[in-house]
Amino acid sequence: MTGQGALIVISGFSGAGKGTLVEKLIADSDRFSLSISMTTRSPREGETNGKEYFFVTKEEFQKKIEEDGFLEYAGYVGNYYGTPKAYVEGEIAKGHDVILEIEVQGALQIKDKYPNAILMFVTPPSVEELKKRLIGRGTENLESINKRLLRAKEESILMHKYDYIVVNDDIEDCKKSVISFIDAAKSTPERCSGFIKKLQNELEEL
Ligand code: 5GP
Repeated sequence: MTGQGALIVISGFSGAGKGTLVEKLIADSDRFSLSISMTTRSPREGETNGKEYFFVTKEEFQKKIEEDGFLEYAGYVGNYYGTPKAYVEGEIAKGHDVILEIEVQGALQIKDKYPNAILMFVTPPSVEELKKRLIGRGTENLESINKRLLRAKEESILMHKYDYIVVNDDIEDCKKSVISFIDAAKSTPERCSGFIKKLQNELEEL
């Protein structure tokens, strides 16, 4: 391993199982740090401030924008979501791999600012399965489900901008694929530039 931390962006249709995937990635290893986003959406039952999200008012969110406190932010189905800058920059500086679980517009802002970020898009094997999962998880009303499906249609147009498409059929297989994609992506020369430089410097000193 080359010692450099990576910025890993995980997006996917609402209901694709990204939340479970990210939970598994975090639980099984201390390799990954998870960025906790700020949102103006209300907490769902069982969600705690500071764990799933930092739940804030529109005014607080706006203030953070004005302070240039976000790495990226975007609107999603009537609410705002953003990645606080300080935590992510701190973890990357420590050499940790940081996971951002964010939607497409935010992911593309990250790709612009950090070309070495690794972008993964998680999808169920079919739209029928997507609908089944959204209805089955029971956290959204019909209106919200329909909005999320409409949003999935828009997001599908931008899927080709990602580095990897991850089909979540079986969650354990999906997790294994994601880890192998991250390992492969971290080994490209662009992402190993610091390591290459170090080797060159050492060779120079021979
Ligand atoms: P949910 O309301 O289901 O928790 O999240 C809705 C969408 O917002 C999901 O696609 C999730 O990945 C995305 N999201 C969560 N946090 C952020 C963030 O900080 N920035 C952006 N751009 N999207 C986010």
